[in-house]
Amino acid sequence: MDVGSEVIVIGAGPAGIAATIYLRRAGFDALLLEGGRPGGLLRYANLVENYPGFPGGIEGPRLVELFTRHLESVGGAVVKAAVNSLRTKGDGSFIASSSLGEFTAKAVIIATGTKARRIELPGLTKLEGRTVFYDLIELLVQAKSGEQIVIYGGGDAAFDQGIHLRKKGYWVTVLSRSRSRCLLLLMERALEVGVRIIEGRSIKNVKEKGEKLLLELDDSGTMLVDRILIACGREPRLEILGPSILASIGSADRPFTSIPGLYLAGDAVSGERRQVGIAIGSGISSAMAAEGYLRGGPSR
Ligand SMILES: Cc1cc2nc3c(=O)[nH]c(=O)nc-3n(C[C@H](O)[C@H](O)[C@H](O)COP(=O)(O)OP(=O)(O)OC[C@H]3O[C@@H](n4cnc5c(N)ncnc54)[C@H](O)[C@@H]3O)c2cc1C
Repeated sequence: MDVGSEVIVIGAGPAGIAATIYLRRAGFDALLLEGGRPGGLLRYANLVENYPGFPGGIEGPRLVELFTRHLESVGGAVVKAAVNSLRTKGDGSFIASSSLGEFTAKAVIIATGTKARRIELPGLTKLEGRTVFYDLIELLVQAKSGEQIVIYGGGDAAFDQGIHLRKKGYWVTVLSRSRSRCLLLLMERALEVGVRIIEGRSIKNVKEKGEKLLLELDDSGTMLVDRILIACGREPRLEILGPSILASIGSADRPFTSIPGLYLAGDAVSGERRQVGIAIGSGISSAMAAEGYLRGGPSR
């Protein structure tokens, strides 16, 4: 398949959906490609309380449903296609190679978000997908209610996921290497629902013990648990870009590339400021820049 569009948006998280809604309302034929399920990381959020318009908060999956309905209301759709690479053509347009074939466009917005930062521990890799996870949804597919789960990390996402798992009937410990860096509010809620918190301890080794995992800590203590979810930070997911495109990327405060018609949006370029509202603003900002470019104005 080789489909030509005016603009391709890669990634249907909040940033990509917001960019596509903007572009479709501006009259552009915008193609939104998504390798997984629409909504991106927002699908993992237990309760989003800082996105205006929802006093009392809204569950992440419910907000995703509203975003998707909004996209459909402007004639947009999420096309299921994982992009493997993006390259430029001699005429200044772009080719995205994907699981569904090749797509060409005059402009591209990259809204591919982030991936979990891997940690190095002996023996960890071979347990991945069975007892060791970086992805909450993958863990939930395997885990049974009542299991002991350690979340390794001390940020907002670690605590949000801890509350989520505890409410689903798992016994959860959030274990962090230093003092927790999450909102006090989240820590209080975690304690209220019975999440155990251990700070200032790191895992030195992970061993299988029967069906369980034996975690050896730096203070010589051990923990016997069913599974571990690693939440030790995230990094931009930009593997689809070749070295020359990567070298053209600006900073978080200036999310443009030096390649005309190519834009970045959302967590992929937000550094540590990873929030739904910021991703949406950034998606709209990139869409407006792409609009200007497609109408014959400057690239940014
Ligand atoms: C547990 C948790 C709780 C959170 N709670 C809150 C909260 O309460 N409030 C808040 O403001 N923020 C919260 N966040 C952060 C928020 O979810 C993110 O900031 C937001 O989802 C970022 O949007 P994005 O579109 O930039 O990226 P993402 O949401 O990461 O979406 C990127 C999308 O791109 C797709 N993709 C990646 N590569 C490709 C490819 N090669 N081809 C096709 N598709 C691709 C991915 O599958 C994904 O769907 C939370 C995050 C987590 C993990």
